[in-house]
Amino acid sequence: MSTDNAVLTLTDLASWPKPGGSFAVLGQPIKHSVSPAMHNAALERASIADPRWKQWHYHRFEVAPTDLPIALPRFHKAGFSGLNLTVPHKVLARDLVEEIDNAARPIGAVNTLRRTPTGWKGFNTDGYGLASGLAADLGLQLKGAFVLLLGAGGAARGAAVQCLQEGVASLWIANRTQSNLDTIIADLNPLVPAGCQLRGFSPSNPPAELPEGCIVINATSAGLKLTDPLPIEIGKLPRPAAAYDMIYNPTETAFLRSAKTLGIPTANGLSMLVHQGAKSLEIWTGIPAKESAAIMAKAAKTALGLA
Ligand code: NDP
Repeated sequence: MSTDNAVLTLTDLASWPKPGGSFAVLGQPIKHSVSPAMHNAALERASIADPRWKQWHYHRFEVAPTDLPIALPRFHKAGFSGLNLTVPHKVLARDLVEEIDNAARPIGAVNTLRRTPTGWKGFNTDGYGLASGLAADLGLQLKGAFVLLLGAGGAARGAAVQCLQEGVASLWIANRTQSNLDTIIADLNPLVPAGCQLRGFSPSNPPAELPEGCIVINATSAGLKLTDPLPIEIGKLPRPAAAYDMIYNPTETAFLRSAKTLGIPTANGLSMLVHQGAKSLEIWTGIPAKESAAIMAKAAKTALGLA
């Protein structure tokens, strides 16, 4: 049995099935992932009420994107019940699964795979994670909100679809590369409900019509490195209601620092990470996400050295 810290490879699948049941996160790089700590803590807690979960374990596997097509059938054959996918697999896996959950289809990316008798069904829990994180950390609901989303990558897609599905009043998307912005706007346009406004713009040139009171969400990777530029100059926007950064390591990016300086409520992406993980576990096991979130948050903070 691997510990939370072991990084496994496809070679380790030769010794499966292990006693009990198995889940795993697949990515490259994967060493930094705190998902094993979160899920194993939640499984251990669940085993108090239901000893069935005592024999279940969540592992981490380093898998190159070129190996994903052979990896998914191997995990199935080895008896895994569920997989999480992280960078760079979320979009690739979309074309490798047998079935895609209706809510995940418009996102074009999956982060959770549930075993079926003959393959995998793909889900995306990132949007749920974001919505739950905003509610838990900032007391905010997406329904009726003005949202300014920064970024046009996979995480932004999950967030944007969640915003539209939950009924935001308007969704503004800012992205550095115009062609990527055009693509996400074109893909989202068919999903825009009546009465909702979807607009894109360059972060260097915020439009005058941008409303006050936006929830500004950083879904770019700008901020992961200390030398990264700000994803947007928040001081030049009509006063936002809150700033949320999907990045949780570092715990406070320059984007969040600049918002805090202006007295704007802020939160980082740890809550999103926790709630998307709790939802994955619910999809695989039926253990309610709301029951796992607190223990997962504690485990994630410990694994990140924050507790
Ligand atoms: P992608 O690579 O798919 O997208 C990256 C996005 O960031 C693009 O919009 C890109 O813009 C933009 N970007 C990258 N570098 C810069 C920069 N220097 N300045 C401005 N914009 C930049 O990544 P993901 O969508 O998968 O992830 C985005 C972020 O969200 C990451 O930081 C990731 O860690 C975080 N995340 C957090 C989660 C959580 O649970 N908390 C879950 C998923 C993601 P362009 O189009 O111009 O290249």
